[in-house]
Amino acid sequence: MVFDPLQHTHAGVRSLRPYQPGKPVEELERELGINNAIKLASNENPLGCSPRVRQYLADQANELERYPDGNGFALKRRLAEIHSLDSGCITLGNGSNDVLDLIARVFLSPEKNAVFSQYAFAVYPLATLAVNAQPNVASARTDSAMPMGHNINSIAEAVNANTAVVFIANPNNPTGTWLTPSEISELLEKIPQNVVVVLDEAYRDYQSPELRPDSCLLLKQYPNLVVTRTFSKVHGLAALRVGYSLSSPEIADLLNRVRQPFNVNSLALSAALAALDDEEHVKSSVQMNQAGMRQLIAGFASFAIDVLPSQANFLTFRIPEKAEAVYQALLQRAVIVRPLAGYQMPDWLRVTIGTEAENQQFLSALGKVLKELGLPSSVEPVAAH
Ligand SMILES: *Cc1c(COP(=O)(O)O)cnc(C)c1O
Repeated sequence: MVFDPLQHTHAGVRSLRPYQPGKPVEELERELGINNAIKLASNENPLGCSPRVRQYLADQANELERYPDGNGFALKRRLAEIHSLDSGCITLGNGSNDVLDLIARVFLSPEKNAVFSQYAFAVYPLATLAVNAQPNVASARTDSAMPMGHNINSIAEAVNANTAVVFIANPNNPTGTWLTPSEISELLEKIPQNVVVVLDEAYRDYQSPELRPDSCLLLKQYPNLVVTRTFSKVHGLAALRVGYSLSSPEIADLLNRVRQPFNVNSLALSAALAALDDEEHVKSSVQMNQAGMRQLIAGFASFAIDVLPSQANFLTFRIPEKAEAVYQALLQRAVIVRPLAGYQMPDWLRVTIGTEAENQQFLSALGKVLKELGLPSSVEPVAAH
């Protein structure tokens, strides 16, 4: 008899499909036999990481035989200082995705559900189903001010007696949409305090300052809040996998119980510390993003392509009926963007804001592709920026 492992797992795992990452640039170059492809598919920092990080990494490379500091003492101390919190409020993760997974493993179980918005970040259903808990999806906004964005009323209404966790991405990936600080406060007020609320701020640095909630103040007001941050985006350290959460020490203690002992490696710990010391690099990365955002928005407008409002480092745009064809044709022109069919957004593509030259390369490839396919769309932009 053949052993069928599928029959021996739970419904959550059975319903999962592996996460689909952006296509690696090496893979496309191999396929096309070229070496100048650009990847604008995974919201990485086009400037790379801080030059200071490289020096730290060189120093660390001598001690690879040692286990990392499993408590991440130095990095936690620095983060605590920056956020004016106790070190005990910080949990480090192998990327912030690791922390999201820890939260699911601590608070979710088969009889519980996790609420998140339609079109929210893919890791929320993944972490939820991996522990066989129930995804409880709140319908997104449909109004023209913030199409496909989180709807605080439908999120609050979806919360029921079996809800243990609410995941909020602000700004959200893959839409780029956001909640204002007052909407976040309003939502936190509506959610019972026995439900853990995760505020995922992966793109916080890209937001206009007045749109960033005072998350540390919120932590003091709402003991059920967990704020997650990452070094993968504006700090340009996606390859090293390091992120963290801020929460009450009591929640951090629970996360720490299920955490793998050495979940963050030594190079990542050192690099993150060095990255925190280079505020100039963050500033120039944000400035480059703002300029790139204007460049791409102007480009989309010239093609009359519909774009979602974004406070992140990417733009999500609509190609009715032909998104997959445009994705494939862009690949042929050495440009990798992200298809969003897996998010139930089959008519949309997401492009990461790159350097000025990369953005230009993308726009000119897109222009040719639209012509080739007999487009452009005649859709009016959904929202002014
Ligand atoms: C990129 C991203 C993260 C960060 O993931 P890491 O595991 O830290 O690389 C978290 N949340 C959202 C919404 C993201 O888009």
